[in-house]
Amino acid sequence: MLLTISTTTRPATDLGFLLHKHPDRVQEFGQSFGTARVLYPEASEERCTAALMLEVDPVRLVRSRGRSSPDFSLGQYVNDRPYAASSMLAVALADVFRTARAGICKARPELAAGPVELEITVPALPCRGGPELAHQLFEPLGWQVEARAVPLDEGFPEWGDSRYVRLVLRGAVRLADALNHLYVMLPVLDDAKHYWIASDEVDKLVRAGEGWLASHPERGRITRRYLGRRRSLTHEAFARLAELGDDVEEELEPPIEEEPGAQAEPEAQEAAAEAVVPPGGEPPAQQEGGPERRPLNLLRRDAVVAVLAELGARSVIDLGCGSGGLVGELLRDPAFTKVTGVDVSARALALAARRLKLDRMPDARRERLELFQGALTYTDERFAGYDAAVLMEVVEHVDPPRLPALERVVFGDARPGTVIVTTPNSEYNVRYEFLTGMRHPDHRFEWTRAEFTAWAERVCREYGYRVAYRPVGDDDPEVGPPTQMGVFSRG
Ligand code: SAH
Repeated sequence: MLLTISTTTRPATDLGFLLHKHPDRVQEFGQSFGTARVLYPEASEERCTAALMLEVDPVRLVRSRGRSSPDFSLGQYVNDRPYAASSMLAVALADVFRTARAGICKARPELAAGPVELEITVPALPCRGGPELAHQLFEPLGWQVEARAVPLDEGFPEWGDSRYVRLVLRGAVRLADALNHLYVMLPVLDDAKHYWIASDEVDKLVRAGEGWLASHPERGRITRRYLGRRRSLTHEAFARLAELGDDVEEELEPPIEEEPGAQAEPEAQEAAAEAVVPPGGEPPAQQEGGPERRPLNLLRRDAVVAVLAELGARSVIDLGCGSGGLVGELLRDPAFTKVTGVDVSARALALAARRLKLDRMPDARRERLELFQGALTYTDERFAGYDAAVLMEVVEHVDPPRLPALERVVFGDARPGTVIVTTPNSEYNVRYEFLTGMRHPDHRFEWTRAEFTAWAERVCREYGYRVAYRPVGDDDPEVGPPTQMGVFSRG
């Protein structure tokens, strides 16, 4: 099993620093299923290539399978697993290039932070869905994709193609992103995993997918396949992605369907049946259903819109608007005569413009809307003059020492009649079966109900507001609601 990573960004040998593997040495890393080696077939100023070779021990692989594995005698020993780039290669890649995948490089920090010219080759990649799928998955991430089906037997072209492709990706991509793309896509293309898909896979997916998965046009397919089509995990992943990217919600509304054609695709079923089960583990074919829930980000938006309508607000400024979900919803109601979205992130604003179809918006609606870039920790006169301001899931993204600046800018300087603040209730986190740590990698903190109340009350004392609390989502008798909301009124 082989994967090569080449660069032509000069000096190309800096690839050794980025990967934390010296070009002059062959290094070995033991894996539960075999041995991974990193070596450099070429290393010059102009071009440098690192190869990750994985030697799988099929006997060890069989031993690690559970008693419930299908007994296809010879098939257990003679199969494609030692040769085809699969989840085993993804696991080895994550292990061997752990630091690089986190984007850390003390020796060349600026190189690790930006795009480098890369060429990645995977000579034998199992691809259920054919070469076309490789294009659909990698192209939206900025790769130029060459995916060629490998013939079953070169001597007998009439036998047609195998399910393997030779994949070459070229592009100027940050190395850490490239490794994360591969880590997620290898098992997705293979549509199988060599190990039982446990609940921490959602975390792994959300982490590896940070910054690209939530806005990927094929995120549904990627998520379902990555999680072995286990519906409860897929639901959880979508909810977590919604927390991250907040523009996945359109897809969350209809019940999540199984992948179209999955039933008609015996190979896929076979792949699911092939998934390895630990002794006494759950059978992989099992799918959990459960009632469909309205995702939390939509419940939150409903709750904010309801409060604004109740208070009769006419002009609203959404501070930290992200990709503009709330702004779009408010524009739909003509009672809101002025709707403004502000965010510090240019990327978020570009997403918002696309999602709101700004270029095709009818004039009457366009006149009610304003979108601009701004930072909430600096006084900005453009924030003033609104009936209401919304800080939906924003305060927890601000470093605690900067929070007083935001308080002053919003409650002291802009001073709208109403400020609506929503933020996660950290007590509720125990109810997320698959969550480890905070709900979002960018959260600087998450407050308990007592912490939120203490903050809100201090802000009221300092700036002359009153606050009322409203739970959002299922209000758990023990730990409270998933989202807490404070409605602040001036005077
Ligand atoms: N309100 C949206 C987005 C929440 S994510 C929603 O609920 O769906 C948090 C957003 O706050 C991000 O888009 C981030 O770019 C923005 N943000 C974080 N710190 C900010 C700051 N100091 N100034 C302006 N926007 C900020």
